Amino acid sequence: MEYEAFFRRQIDRLRADGNYRVFAEIERQAGNFPRAVLHNPPTGHPGENGAPREITIWCSNDYLGMGQHPDVLAAMHDAIDRLGAGAGGTRNISGTSIAHVELERELASLHGKESALLFASGYMSNWATLGTIAARLPGCIVLSDAGNHASMIEGIRHSRAERHIFAHNDPADLDRILATLPADAPKIVAFESVYSMDGDIAPIAAICDVADKHGAMTYLDEVHAVGLYGPQGAGIAARDGVADRLTIVEGTLGKGFGVVGGYIAASDALCDFVRSFASGYIFSTALPPAIAAGACASIRAVRAADGLRARHADRVRAVRAALDQAGVPHQLNPSHIVPVIVGDPIKTRLLTDRLLTRHGIYVQPINYPTVPRGTERLRLTPSPLHSDQDIAQLATALGAEWAELNLAESA
Ligand code: PMP
Repeated sequence: MEYEAFFRRQIDRLRADGNYRVFAEIERQAGNFPRAVLHNPPTGHPGENGAPREITIWCSNDYLGMGQHPDVLAAMHDAIDRLGAGAGGTRNISGTSIAHVELERELASLHGKESALLFASGYMSNWATLGTIAARLPGCIVLSDAGNHASMIEGIRHSRAERHIFAHNDPADLDRILATLPADAPKIVAFESVYSMDGDIAPIAAICDVADKHGAMTYLDEVHAVGLYGPQGAGIAARDGVADRLTIVEGTLGKGFGVVGGYIAASDALCDFVRSFASGYIFSTALPPAIAAGACASIRAVRAADGLRARHADRVRAVRAALDQAGVPHQLNPSHIVPVIVGDPIKTRLLTDRLLTRHGIYVQPINYPTVPRGTERLRLTPSPLHSDQDIAQLATALGAEWAELNLAESA
């Protein structure tokens, strides 16, 4: 077989569909977010890059700008100086630092759970936890929201457990499916709070009601909510006063908390079970202690930062109002994510290239398979650090390009 030719054909097909991903090479500059330097800006000629230029980032998941918070940077510098660069091993074999233990305590406290368990990423926490529980709990059946993230889907698949997909954010459909399943089989309902691409929010209490009725455990991914919502930024479940009804809360340290890593928070027994049986946890080098120290400092700062959350919500409102004024349609939802649907991958790329080359505004196009075909979009993520001027510039530029490309008709 011509292996190289196969790889190239697959890539060529992506290019022809407009779905080939070009990674923007960004030099983030601590203290300057949302400004950064882009090293490979498009020139408008396929395959050509221009000279490095300053950009304003409008698509970061560092939602609160914690990736440059002075407390976080200081904690990381200090931890490197005290504890060195790497963890030195897996958690089981010499890799458990005092910084990991402290962070896990902080996370358990944030979510009001007995324990927490750290992973290298949110992806790994979903994959390993759902995969391990569904595989190891005899006869376990998984109920998975139709909009769930790839990391949950892959973990569930990997477990080979029986699984059923319920309609997105639809407790009635979940109830209907659960009623068809054996009453005595163990079950787990896996869903998210804030869905990252549409920015819609799950009816957590109603899903818990259905799960309770059928004796199912609940697994909630709060990756796009932790730090941003609820008392002390503990997430949507905390905001809704239902955190204690969830069996497992899962989150990331890479978005609202601005660093990297993933975790679950749950009972002592459940965390100990995952710690003891999840290969993705056991057989992988622990996060560097400085990462754990930075994340811990970030959580502490965020817990105390109601003003930052209020400012974030205010910036989101301001962006929505400015887009309305500029005639740019955006999807309404109750979260901080502002989707602008273009509905075509090539036009989406054209729009984002123009925003970059003409206005220095960086928004990564979101294409299939991240979103369904025909719903290709910009996904704007305002942060507390975007100024009124940044917002005005975004709205003016987007309004002008939207009109010039005649997108109003296709959206
Ligand atoms: N869950 C959801 C809903 C996500 O969107 C993502 C990543 N974008 C993850 C989990 C994975 O988190 P991480 O980036 O920390 O691996």
